[in-house]
Amino acid sequence: MIYLDSNATTQVDPKVLDAMLPFLREAFANPSASYRAARGVRSAIETARQQVAAMIGAARAEELIFTSCGTESINAAHVSVRSLWPDRPGLVHTGTEHAAGIECAKRWREAGGRVTAVPVTPQGRVDLAALEQALDAGEVALVSIMWANNETGVIAPIREIVELAHAAGALVHCDAVQAVGKIPVDVQKVPVDFLSLSGHKIHAPKGVGALYVSGRVRFRPLLVGGGQESGRRSGTENVAGIVGLGTAAALAMSERSEHALRDTFEGHVMAMLRDTIVWGDREHRLPNTSCLGFPGMDAAGLLILLDEAGVCCSAGSACHTASLHPSHVLESMGVSAADASSMLRFSFSRFNTMDEAALAADAVIHAVEKMRVLKDDASGPVAFS
Ligand code: PLP
Repeated sequence: MIYLDSNATTQVDPKVLDAMLPFLREAFANPSASYRAARGVRSAIETARQQVAAMIGAARAEELIFTSCGTESINAAHVSVRSLWPDRPGLVHTGTEHAAGIECAKRWREAGGRVTAVPVTPQGRVDLAALEQALDAGEVALVSIMWANNETGVIAPIREIVELAHAAGALVHCDAVQAVGKIPVDVQKVPVDFLSLSGHKIHAPKGVGALYVSGRVRFRPLLVGGGQESGRRSGTENVAGIVGLGTAAALAMSERSEHALRDTFEGHVMAMLRDTIVWGDREHRLPNTSCLGFPGMDAAGLLILLDEAGVCCSAGSACHTASLHPSHVLESMGVSAADASSMLRFSFSRFNTMDEAALAADAVIHAVEKMRVLKDDASGPVAFS
């Protein structure tokens, strides 16, 4: 198997698993308990908090709240702002957000708020002039825009977005689930107010995430109960998951080489299939992501052929693959439904090799050529009947 679907989820790094195992075996005490065995567990959580804080450049580890996933973090940020700033009804986002952001915006509207979707350019970048205009309308409580897109890998001009939002008195939530661990993310240099991240995208397990809440802003918890996480996220902590996330964060800060893998793969494909389209801004793109369009092809058929060849990739985001709707991200970029339905996303991780990149490219070229032959065979008799 050649796994090129790391934007959907990543394999757990063996070092992460090693760090987690003691907390699934002997160190199982409830971190809130008062005896000595619990103290070690509590301190492991605090070490993980520092590791995650270091990965995103947070000034204080306490600005991080552990959650169950990126989706929970995104929901918590939206719900908090909506309930604490009722006099500012506006939410500004883009049509290219992950489903979690899109659904939160629907809830915002259902609760009587006003939602503006700022357009993106044909390359998938936020239209800053349109953002400024949306903010001019006033009373915007929150601008919620992703740092990097999960389908195209396009990186948003997040510094400019923060400057515009803050100048208009709005807070900023950033879905950085795809950005952290792949490109530098520093919340002091780019002072977002909230930032969501997820363990399973950076070689930690599924079921753990984090929400950064700047010390400057107030926060109202989504989950209330026993008062864990300093009262900001109740529920007994997923200790092993949190330790895994901390370890993964520490590992993510070392050197990466995904761009060489991605560029080798893309170079091979483009050399042989000259009409291939690279969707998204190639200059401002995650180093691991290749979102390709194969004009006239059907992504669903290509997926089957690639699966047979042992290559795992996806058509759009993992959440939508089962339904095979054309990507809402490409749609927002103005891509036609026909072109969008020929899109495949390949996403690399540090566990891929150059050999895999070259072999996967061969498999893609072969699959597209095979589909072309099948299509030509089918169109012959049909054309004359
Ligand atoms: N945001 C983005 C950009 C994502 O890619 C994903 C996962 O696909 C999420 C949010 C949701 O994260 P999780 O799966 O941890 O809930």
